[in-house]
Amino acid sequence: MELSNRQEKIVEIVKGNGPITGEQIAERLNLTRATLRPDLAILTMSGFLDARPRVGYFYTGKTGFELITEKIKKYKVHEFQQIPIIVKESTSVYDAISTMFLEDVGTLFVVNENTYLTGILSRKDLLRASIGQKDLNAIAVHIIMTRMPNITVCRKDDLLLDVANKLINKQIDGLPVVKDTENGLLVIGRVTKTTITRAFVELTNEKAI
Ligand code: ADP
Repeated sequence: MELSNRQEKIVEIVKGNGPITGEQIAERLNLTRATLRPDLAILTMSGFLDARPRVGYFYTGKTGFELITEKIKKYKVHEFQQIPIIVKESTSVYDAISTMFLEDVGTLFVVNENTYLTGILSRKDLLRASIGQKDLNAIAVHIIMTRMPNITVCRKDDLLLDVANKLINKQIDGLPVVKDTENGLLVIGRVTKTTITRAFVELTNEKAI
């Protein structure tokens, strides 16, 4: 986050003189307390300064980079997860390809008749299955999918950063957000490389950073 000239001056004053009251900062800048209020709010919200009642403002000593890192480490899967697109094991490769186009996704999750996760299909899985095949209606996706237990999953309270690491380490485009039940995993969401990109962009939109 770029600080305004005035905000930088405030940080310098607090750095050198903190704890210091808003009134005293205003005096040093020849401004009123009311004029400074928005700047002080931004500086405390973004973590550059901290405020204690009856004590005043003090400098947290955190750099912009540290503040951004802290923010990223707080992002949870459930804040960003998208709707999962699911097909049944008996779905044909042809219908799975259609679903991918219609839903505009690159990864489909496959469930059994009890709606528990059994497999995953990527674009290349479907391409591979299509090469040299005359009748794509004749092959069911459970023949070609990557199947449990070899599926990398995440849970809604996981850190988005951990999921990003899994995507990189496993070289995959996405993974299902699952809920554990006695009988299996229920798919409740989807996190993909696009989700991570969205979170990245969100960082720059946040006034508080
Ligand atoms: P693409 O195959 O289109 O490049 P991916 O890189 O996501 O897309 O998939 C690579 C392979 O890994 C595919 O065979 C796919 O079935 C499998 N795969 C994709 N996502 C997962 C996952 N979350 N867990 C395990 N395997 C996966």
